[in-house]
Amino acid sequence: MRLKSHHKVTLTLGLTVAVILTAVYFYLDNNLKNYTYKRIRTDLNHEVSLIKSYLEQIQGPVDFDKIADQLGHDISARVTIISSDGVVQGDSMFDGEALHGLENHLSRPEVQDALMNKRGESRRYSHSTKEDMLYVAVPFGPTENSNIIRLSLPLADIAHISDHLKKFLWLGLWLSFLFALLISHLASRMITRPIARISSIAQAIAGGDFSQKISLWQDDEINDLAKAINFMSEHIRTRIEEVTTAKSRLEAVFLSMIEGVMVVNSEGKILLINETLKKILHVEHEALGRKPLEVIRNIEVQEIVGDVLQSRQGVKVREMSFFFPEERILRVHAAPVLREGKADGVVLVFHDITDLRRLETIRKDFVANVSHEFRTPVANIKGYSETLLDGALNDKEHALEFLKIIYSESDRLAKLVDDLLKLARLESGRSDLDLKPCSIAKILDWVLAGLNIQAKQQEVKIVTQIPEDIAQIKADDSSLSQILFNLIENAIKYNKPGGQVTVSAREQDRWIEVSIADNGIGISADDLPRVFERFYRVDKAHSREIGGTGLGLSIVKHIIQSHNGDITAQSELGMGSVFCFTLPKA
Ligand code: ADP
Repeated sequence: MRLKSHHKVTLTLGLTVAVILTAVYFYLDNNLKNYTYKRIRTDLNHEVSLIKSYLEQIQGPVDFDKIADQLGHDISARVTIISSDGVVQGDSMFDGEALHGLENHLSRPEVQDALMNKRGESRRYSHSTKEDMLYVAVPFGPTENSNIIRLSLPLADIAHISDHLKKFLWLGLWLSFLFALLISHLASRMITRPIARISSIAQAIAGGDFSQKISLWQDDEINDLAKAINFMSEHIRTRIEEVTTAKSRLEAVFLSMIEGVMVVNSEGKILLINETLKKILHVEHEALGRKPLEVIRNIEVQEIVGDVLQSRQGVKVREMSFFFPEERILRVHAAPVLREGKADGVVLVFHDITDLRRLETIRKDFVANVSHEFRTPVANIKGYSETLLDGALNDKEHALEFLKIIYSESDRLAKLVDDLLKLARLESGRSDLDLKPCSIAKILDWVLAGLNIQAKQQEVKIVTQIPEDIAQIKADDSSLSQILFNLIENAIKYNKPGGQVTVSAREQDRWIEVSIADNGIGISADDLPRVFERFYRVDKAHSREIGGTGLGLSIVKHIIQSHNGDITAQSELGMGSVFCFTLPKA
């Protein structure tokens, strides 16, 4: 059973008071008997002395029995007057025959004492009254013939008086006990009430409610405790606010980081993982509390965690490849979380370097491709020039042929350099586009004027289907003519004699869609997705032979993208191709 504090205090004080009062009772009870006895004995002694002087003053003959009766009545005690020879002369309790029938009292110890010592006392059983009595006796009258006056009281009377007093004592002690109980209850309530209030507010604080304050008015230790709790509550509230703010800031940083972050504890189990990492590695299930290997199918992450936890040395960096959901290369920095010199966990930061690596590969491939593209014409120019210098210059017929080759190779080189510069400008975003409304029909006419001869040479017919009222395009006119030139030139180059190129345009929402269709050699499904890559050519030898650089479609795609447009290609090997691009309306 749970007892409240004030009940405990009341009970303790009550029990203490009860024990003290019980001890007081027994002590007083014992003393009361003695006191009552002594008091009555003293009174009897005084009374016997008074009676003695009274009797000694009486002159003439006296009726001792009458006097004894009178005195006995007055002092409510048995009065006996005994002559010096022990004969009872008068007794307040006996008269007449009974008085005469009383035996000689000379042998009574108190009488003996009185005769010898002038005062006698005894406590004994009375054969006359048949009960225990207290006797006090003194001699009176002339010394040589003294009588004895004796007073006695039954001891039962003394016990009766002490019992009577005991009842008062009992009642007094009970009242004292009840009073003490009431006082201790009130006092304990006074002490424990503020403690109960402090306790309820402390519980509220523990439950996170810091709005309540303890208000006390006494100036004592409990008030000091209340002040301390109020201060502590305020302090905790401020601290919690600080921690919450810091936590939310940290969470905001953690969530907005573009790097993936994972924190594992000393057992290698995940404590934190941010959304970026979940997205990169396609983590869909609950990751917290599990080991990295259970969440990410990559043994290397588990290994680096184990390494850092064991070695406790600084940051470890490793590049790892992940193949799910798509191929990714991540650079992982793993640093120990040190606590008292021990690795208490590991923080892993994942940098996605897939694009960086891809760009590096593209750059390397590009350099290799450019060198490769340059090598053949440069080698040709060098070779034929050397031959001419070595004497072939004099052989007019061959010299002309060699010079034609040197010219065509340097032309190819110039074209290559030109295309590379265009591409570089487009990729660097430095191509200054002069966007203005352009008429597709006009630009097409201008482009076709430059391509007509080539078309005729290859026996390819060019058909245009441009609605007269078609809206203007918002574009840089030289860029637009470059797009059309490259696409129509390809449609002519990769065509068959007797083939046809159809250039058409139509409006679609806020776009103008232009398509260049041919019924030429077409592109296989394997090659089609790659034709926009730099230097990609389906048939390298053929392309080179007809003066291609492999950069035409890359340039087209870049220009279109810089106009926020789009380009698609459809083709079927042997049947022809359709290149379709969109540019915004003016
Ligand atoms: P190139 O200078 O070689 O023409 P492009 O970038 O313009 O370079 O084209 C890349 C490759 O795409 C060409 O080498 C060719 O194989 C293929 N190609 C482009 N246009 C067509 C087309 N209309 N029909 C068939 N093949 C084409």
